[in-house]
Amino acid sequence: MNNNKFTTPEEDQIIEAAFQDVLDGYLASNHRKKVEIIKRAFKFAKEAHSGIRRRSGEPYILHPIAVAKIASQEIGLGSTSICAALLHDVVEDTDYTVEDIEQHFGPKIAQLVSGLTKISGGIFGDKASVQAENFRKLLLTMSEDIRVVLIKMADRLHNMRTLGSMAPNKQYKIAGETLYIYAPLAHRLGLFAIKTELEDLSFKYEHPEAYARITQQIADSEARRSSIYNDFSAPITRRLEEMGLKFEAKARIKSVYSIWNKMEAKHVPFEEVYDLYAMRIIFECDDPAREKALCWEIYSAITDLYRLHPDRTRDWISVPKANGYQALHLTVMGPDGNWIEVQIRSRRMDEIAEKGFAAHWKYKIGDSDEESELNAWLHTIKDILDNPEPNAIDFLDTLKLNLFSSEIVVFTPKGELITLPKDATVLDVAFSLHSHIGCHCIAGKVNHKLVPLSQKLRSGDQVEVLTSQSQTPKAEWMPFLATAKGKTALRAALRREQQPAINSGKTIFEEFLKKHGITDSNDVVTKAMGVYQAANRDQLYYMLGNGDIVLNDSIAKSLKRRGENQERSLFSKIFRLPGSRPAADEAAKETAQPANTPINMKETYVLKYDDRGANFKFSGCCCPIPGDEVIGFVDDNNEVTIHVLDCPRALAMKASYGPRIVSTRWDEVRGKFLARVHIEGIDRFGILQELTQLISSHLNIDIRRLNIEAQNEVFHADLSVLVEDAAVVNDLCDKIKHVNGVTKAARV
Ligand code: MN
Repeated sequence: MNNNKFTTPEEDQIIEAAFQDVLDGYLASNHRKKVEIIKRAFKFAKEAHSGIRRRSGEPYILHPIAVAKIASQEIGLGSTSICAALLHDVVEDTDYTVEDIEQHFGPKIAQLVSGLTKISGGIFGDKASVQAENFRKLLLTMSEDIRVVLIKMADRLHNMRTLGSMAPNKQYKIAGETLYIYAPLAHRLGLFAIKTELEDLSFKYEHPEAYARITQQIADSEARRSSIYNDFSAPITRRLEEMGLKFEAKARIKSVYSIWNKMEAKHVPFEEVYDLYAMRIIFECDDPAREKALCWEIYSAITDLYRLHPDRTRDWISVPKANGYQALHLTVMGPDGNWIEVQIRSRRMDEIAEKGFAAHWKYKIGDSDEESELNAWLHTIKDILDNPEPNAIDFLDTLKLNLFSSEIVVFTPKGELITLPKDATVLDVAFSLHSHIGCHCIAGKVNHKLVPLSQKLRSGDQVEVLTSQSQTPKAEWMPFLATAKGKTALRAALRREQQPAINSGKTIFEEFLKKHGITDSNDVVTKAMGVYQAANRDQLYYMLGNGDIVLNDSIAKSLKRRGENQERSLFSKIFRLPGSRPAADEAAKETAQPANTPINMKETYVLKYDDRGANFKFSGCCCPIPGDEVIGFVDDNNEVTIHVLDCPRALAMKASYGPRIVSTRWDEVRGKFLARVHIEGIDRFGILQELTQLISSHLNIDIRRLNIEAQNEVFHADLSVLVEDAAVVNDLCDKIKHVNGVTKAARV
């Protein structure tokens, strides 16, 4: 008899207490009190999952209870969602069907559970297309019932909170996917607190050391920070009290993840992150009509006390962000001479900022107005979904473009608002109005001044689009577009535009094959694509139809021979995305030893490299060398390609190819590997000679290339060296940094 079949009395007590906690929280909220159905859902789920345990060993039912608690207490959802959360894994993991749920709990809850079941299936699926397809489903369901996505968020948050008990290769996969898809989605939905926690948790698993270090640094600097904050905030709180306001003021520290992001982006140490925290003022206000005026009164009181930074005031009250965020931000000079941001919000605005759209239901303002922005976004998503990219990774990238970018708001001549991602251009506006307008766009007028269609826009610009019937869409426009909608529309228009040439190219190709007696097959087309470096079939035909390329007898000969490279798998194609190129070093040219036995994904893969070759391949995008922290991807041919842990390409792949990830460990590696180092510094007489001497003779390192450029007083140098492993390069960088005048030396 299986011991796991039953729960112990102690466990039963824990389960009951956890559920009571959910009920108590629900009863304290101002939702209608539909306790009976929640109790029934709990009993049903408990019975359905009985005997099942999570990997951590605890009874499975604790997971749905925790998800229900998050949905209720952290997102603010009501009884229908609580029931759906309790039941969310029943259909997927047990013998019960959606029909059973409907019979017991009615159509609404059944529909939510069915939506949740649909989008969860692929989380551990083993094909990229499955993951993209699931994500598509997730977004499509969103437009039907946003609660599916909100409960999914709660599910993901609990899985992230308990990620420690998962297998390491799944940790990478889940953390990567969370950072890539769920955190941006949470941001878009205005779930700020959840977004921050998801990011921090992902970061903690992806970079445990950096996470621990920054957490420690935050704690160490706490005393100093709070004394500066007290000096700064005391005069403000005194003034606001004199004004008779009821409010709460606190210092809000940046999240660990965003501190790290800032350090990485600006190449600064922790001590030089000056906007480490902001002051937040949350005031009580029963009359929504007074909120805006109060914000500005507080603003005015603060600017009487401190010097205002002229262009860092952000009015998210008059024009809320697309995710519903409202607040008034200003930046003033603090007592220690550093700028401090102050965020002013009413209690209502604060709840919306932390809990997102769910908080709107609590305040019930108007009918649909506050959801209109969200709906607009859902429509954008739908545009992309109607026109899915053939490649799953491209699809995720396009989508990410829209999820991540910060926003600007521009006006049409009629005063209508258009929300666009940062770096959007006149052409984006044209496409956002209509694809027809986009295709015929010739230029624009920004604030009544004539500008090219590539002109980047700023928030507040008034934009008019100029069109001409003789204009046609151009492939060169692609880099001008920042919106996914624009890119998708342009791509579709180009395809239409090229269709006649594609058709005639196809005919030319087919007649050519017939003339030379070659049978038309996929292999032959693939071969021809390789010869002419066409990205796909259509491009090959287009070049033929357009007369850009011509077929001749020698081509016929090579097409008749059977090629060796035809059977490239989907997986290896992923590596040939724009921007990635084959690594230039000798090591990368070595072919991997064919692995005969299937790789065990659960075990750490040992990377070996000796006289017989390597049992892995180096990726072209991030060029890792032995000693770097790397992860492996296993392809269809059972070969392992390694990427640096934080390679952006690898991050995207983690989200889509999770089950192909294998954790790795360096074993004995013999050979020399190419590493690139970038050096910056102040140009002084003799410094270059000193550098070259240091590198070549002193450290006995093989220099392959040294490229130096001096501009005015500053020089930049790119250095390629052959080394045994990462430690040698790091040591080299340290020594270079000690050369007088060098300000930076780091691996690229
Ligand atoms: Mn779950």
